[in-house]
Amino acid sequence: MGLNAALNVPLTSERHRDDGHLLAGSRCPHCHAASFPARAVCHRCGTAAPAEVTFPATGRLITYTTVHVERPGMPVPYTLGQIAIDDDGPLVFGQVKSPDSRLAAGMAVRVAIGSPSQVPRYWFEPI
Ligand SMILES: [Zn+2]
Repeated sequence: MGLNAALNVPLTSERHRDDGHLLAGSRCPHCHAASFPARAVCHRCGTAAPAEVTFPATGRLITYTTVHVERPGMPVPYTLGQIAIDDDGPLVFGQVKSPDSRLAAGMAVRVAIGSPSQVPRYWFEPI
């Protein structure tokens, strides 16, 4: 399969990013690299048309930071983090909401998915 197979794959902006309560992305059938959102071409080995998959709802917070710059729909301050999704899932960048602001690198988190019009569409919460 050559790179022409990637031409028939929907654009990243056209692919769904969640499956109700799970993040949807892709996993390469050749090297097993995971991506969120789904990719038309594997970022690791270049294989065209990786398979679309859903990932576990849980992961580990790798790092995080507090943002003080406003963006539409997100009052400041808010926290952004990088999460390693369980079961060899992708690294996902997203908002981390913690009711008591108690966050630590390595803590277990769970994805939450809002309505299609909600900003942000998904976020993570400590378990
Ligand atoms: Zn690959």
